[in-house]
Amino acid sequence: MAALIRTVSRLSRTNRGWTRGVASLADLPETHDMLRKTCRDFADNELKPIAGDLDKEHRFPTEQVKMMGDLGLMAIDVPDSQGGTGLDYLAYAVALEEISRGCASTGCIMSVNNSLYLGPVKNWSTEQQQETFMHEDFLNGSKVGCFALSEPGNGSDAGAASTVARLEGDHWVLNGTKAWITNSYEASATVVFATTDKGLKHKGISAFLVPMPTEGLTLGKKEDKLGIRATSTAYLIFEDCKIPKENLLGQPGMGFKIAMQTLDAGRIGIASQGLGIAQAALELAVDYAMKREAFGSPIAKMQSVQNKLADMHISVESARLLTWKAAAYKDAGKNYIKEAAMAKLAASEAATFCAHQCIQVLGGMGYVTDMPAERYYRDARITEIYEGTSEVQRLVIAGRLLKEYADITSW
Ligand SMILES: Cc1cc2nc3c(=O)[nH]c(=O)nc-3n(C[C@H](O)[C@H](O)[C@H](O)COP(=O)(O)OP(=O)(O)OC[C@H]3O[C@@H](n4cnc5c(N)ncnc54)[C@H](O)[C@@H]3O)c2cc1C
Repeated sequence: MAALIRTVSRLSRTNRGWTRGVASLADLPETHDMLRKTCRDFADNELKPIAGDLDKEHRFPTEQVKMMGDLGLMAIDVPDSQGGTGLDYLAYAVALEEISRGCASTGCIMSVNNSLYLGPVKNWSTEQQQETFMHEDFLNGSKVGCFALSEPGNGSDAGAASTVARLEGDHWVLNGTKAWITNSYEASATVVFATTDKGLKHKGISAFLVPMPTEGLTLGKKEDKLGIRATSTAYLIFEDCKIPKENLLGQPGMGFKIAMQTLDAGRIGIASQGLGIAQAALELAVDYAMKREAFGSPIAKMQSVQNKLADMHISVESARLLTWKAAAYKDAGKNYIKEAAMAKLAASEAATFCAHQCIQVLGGMGYVTDMPAERYYRDARITEIYEGTSEVQRLVIAGRLLKEYADITSW
């Protein structure tokens, strides 16, 4: 399979035209379709059978993440000249949907490493920083990174960061607490955001690269979560944590910009995670409805059940088109901020809707852990919260929409 992904990577370079012309969004190019099938097989064989146990045991899928690294799925859009897989963002979206269809926790781990950790490192680091923080171990699934922006006192309002970084000779000294950090228990490095000039508010935030473990950095307790329970989430507590001066990512004061650009891309990933959950819920509901009999016939023959399946199908398909469009815009170098927010909003709401309807179609069997419907429901909810809540996505979309209209109507 690894060879197949390398072939896909080579072929995708001949297929770039598709991402420039988003008119033909109905079908994937052949190369991306091959990738999709490869990831689907992997998810069916390696993830689906253990996803329930991973969830129950709160167990990080170390072995499966390594296998995904060998397949090239942990550094999909890092150029091959830098040791990555060299695919585009559409490929990332397609692959992440399939992985999340098999196990949403594993999809979350993949998305954090690809978009939240490697994204800013790839885009803003120096060659010297890359030797450590984009070492091949971060690309091949041997190590994972994390991204520390949120704090106990501010999530949506990320510009109000209270973690501070003070320059002392050859070192930055970090103090403060980051909250809700995914992959924190397994991570070997983090991108962390801290204020270097409080007077400048969000323009005084800078980004730093911190190896883990590091003296002065401790982890809080593992959060006991509703869903994506195979991922670790915890506080990162910085107490006089000294890191070399060279570990500043980008320039002083660029942290907020780095964080926002990272989240714009990351939202395409969360949309894909939502799509994977929604698709899994739809497939389970269809399968169950065709097999379960009531009043002498399969429940799939009943119109109210059919209505649910039709509504689920429409929500998945329309969210998928928005997600592929956002990825295609990014690959074509267009502004994709609104498109990524629309994709994330639609796909995360599709995930919650489909998982909810799936439980309803399964009746009592939807409510117990013998079937994965209840896990889909628990896993779906986070996609409406992290990397910007649904309320924040609506703000982004409306803000862009009003600006577009103001530009053409001189409002
Ligand atoms: C499991 C999990 C994993 C996470 N992983 C990470 C991670 O790896 N790294 C990281 O940095 N963060 C991470 N987060 C944090 C996540 O991004 C935040 O929880 C999220 O951005 C919301 O912030 P908050 O929880 O502080 O909610 P708040 O910002 O306090 O929001 C509370 C409510 O108010 C609403 N609200 C806030 N502002 C507005 C507004 N202007 N207009 C309308 N409504 C508004 C919100 O939509 C929400 O409904 C994670 C969170 C969870 C739960």
